Amino acid sequence: LAATDEEDAAVPSTPDMGNIGFVLLAGGTGSRMKASMPKQFLPLRGVPVLHHSLDLFLERLPDYCKEQGVAPPEHVVLVMDPTYQPEYQPIIDKFPEGKLSFANPGVERQGSVENGLTKLVEVSGGKCEFVAIHDSARPLVTIEEVCNVVSDAKEHGAAVLGVPCKATIKESEDEAFVLRTIPRARLWEVHTPQVVKIETLLRGFKKVQEENLEVTDDVSIVEALGEPVKLTRGEYTNLKITIHADMDWSPI
Ligand code: C5P
Repeated sequence: LAATDEEDAAVPSTPDMGNIGFVLLAGGTGSRMKASMPKQFLPLRGVPVLHHSLDLFLERLPDYCKEQGVAPPEHVVLVMDPTYQPEYQPIIDKFPEGKLSFANPGVERQGSVENGLTKLVEVSGGKCEFVAIHDSARPLVTIEEVCNVVSDAKEHGAAVLGVPCKATIKESEDEAFVLRTIPRARLWEVHTPQVVKIETLLRGFKKVQEENLEVTDDVSIVEALGEPVKLTRGEYTNLKITIHADMDWSPI
């Protein structure tokens, strides 16, 4: 009996997703890939990269939540350039109103996050407490990773998926010679989803704007406020597609 109790205790419980809104970023232009279209629309295992996370947030995760007896996420906001939106309107129309909505991208990723969050607050009538921001360029994230990072955010206010850094990282001042080697033991490479309390993120956006701070990811905003961000141990397979080689490498 004791062994069974221990086994039960080891199974992480699925968090209730009813108050979590998802913002799926697909507004980039893919300039680093030099491809004919942004990377989220390139094919991966027979469908565009973006469809892997759309399917996760709209079908697989809700099904899993229902199986586990917890509320599924109610709102997904898809940040996408208006030129691509008509192509995706039929997918929006498949779902009840407010389940999947468009937001327009900003010039930078952060502007896209702000627009997505504004839309999420609008469609949820302020009922979502947390936002989970995911790069559509990471098509391989798993249900388990999403559940873990959401659980951590609920406990600590903000959480980000990541993995301990395997690479040796060197710093250079002139892009030509090594200035120093950064000790690897404390370095983490962070992924998405990044999950943050909406109230915190809104406060953070204000501070970033007022103080003209540069932030490259969402939890940096929480860091700027001096508030804790939990590192949720993820998988090395949650790769971000940035260059063509990634498509050949991808395990799916
Ligand atoms: O360019 P990068 O790889 O940093 O983009 C990360 C994610 O953010 C991608 O999914 C991209 O589509 C999205 N993005 C966006 N709006 C921007 C820039 C990037 O939605 N202005």
